[in-house]
Amino acid sequence: HADAAMYAAKRQGRNNYAFYSTEMNEVNLRKMMLEQDLRKALQQGELHLVYQGKKDLSADRLSGFEALLRWTHPKFGAVSPAEFIPLAEETGLIVPIGEWVIRQVCDQINSWKQAGLSPLPVSVNLSVRQFKQDNLIEMLKTILLSTGIEPRLIDLEITESVASSNFEAPLIDKLHVMKALGVSISIDDFGTGYSSLSYLRLFPVDTLKMDKCFIRNIDHNQDDLAIVTAIIGMAHSLKLQVLAEGVENETQLALLKEQRCDGAQGYLIGYPVGASEVEPLLAPAHAFSNS
Ligand code: C2E
Ligand code: MG
Ligand code: MG
Ligand code: MG
Repeated sequence: HADAAMYAAKRQGRNNYAFYSTEMNEVNLRKMMLEQDLRKALQQGELHLVYQGKKDLSADRLSGFEALLRWTHPKFGAVSPAEFIPLAEETGLIVPIGEWVIRQVCDQINSWKQAGLSPLPVSVNLSVRQFKQDNLIEMLKTILLSTGIEPRLIDLEITESVASSNFEAPLIDKLHVMKALGVSISIDDFGTGYSSLSYLRLFPVDTLKMDKCFIRNIDHNQDDLAIVTAIIGMAHSLKLQVLAEGVENETQLALLKEQRCDGAQGYLIGYPVGASEVEPLLAPAHAFSNS
C-alpha cells in the first residue's frame, strides 16, 4: 500500500521514496493499461489457445489436452495468464473471453476432424465468475449444438474454490446439469483451495488434478510424497480419476506410476503447443467412424 511504502521509504531517506513510488506507479500503470487493452484484445485477434497434452499412465498414451489462453499484447508482447486472467476476472471480461475459448476449442476439434484425425477430449478452464453466470448452461448447450461436438470431448476444469465456496444447492444442481449434458468435470489445482473435502461427496466430479506444488518435490520430500499418495488413495476410494499436474522429470513420473496415479500432465509429457503442432499427435480417424 502507498502509506506503507512511504513509511518504509522515509525510514531509509528521501531518495528511496522516489524509487518506491515510481516502482509502484509503474505496476499500477501497467495494470491499468493491460485492463484497458484487454477490452479490445478479443476483437483485435490478440488471443489464442495453446494445448498441453495429458497422459493416461496405465495405457501409456496421450488421453487429451488442456486448452490454455495466450495473449500477445501489441506493445508488451506475451502477457502471462497469471497476470491477465485475474484482470479478466475483476473486470468481468472473463465472461466473453471464456465463451470465446469454449467456441474456439469446439471449432478446433472440428478442424481436426476435417483433417481426418481422431480428436481427443480437450479441457477448458472455467473461472468462478463464469460458473456463476445464469446463462452458463445455455451458453454451453448452444455452442455444443451449433458446432456439433460430442460433449464427451469437452472437460470443464473448475478450481476447488468454485467447488467449495458454493455449497448452495443451485450451484450443485448446476454441476449436475452440466454433467447431464455429457461433459466431464475436473477439479483443478486440487489441494490448494479449501480445508474441507466434504464437497467431493456432493459434486459430480470425474477427475482430481493434483496441484503442481505437491508434485514438484515428491522425488526428494517424503511429506509431499505422503500427501500425493493419500490424495491418490482418497480419489480412488471415491471412484474418481486422479491426475498429477506439473510433472517435469522421470523420477516424479515413476513415483506417480508406482502410486497408481491415473494421469499426468507437465513439461515432461509435453509443453503447451499451438493447434498445428497437435495434429501429428492425433491418430487418423478410422474409415466409417464418426468420431
Ligand atoms: P492451470 O489451469 O492450473 O494450468 C496449468 C499451468 O501450469 C499452465 O500455466 C501451464 O502452462 C503450466 N504448466 C504445465 N506444465 C507445467 C510444468 O511441468 N511445470 C510448471 N512449472 N508449469 C507447468 P499457464 O498457461 O501460464 O496458465 C496459468 C493459469 O491461468 C492456469 O492454471 C489457469 O488457471 C489460467 N488459465 C489459462 N487459460 C485459461 C482460460 O482459458 N480460462 C481461464 N478461466 N483460466 C485460464
Ligand atoms: Mg487447468
Ligand atoms: Mg492447475
Ligand atoms: Mg491454476
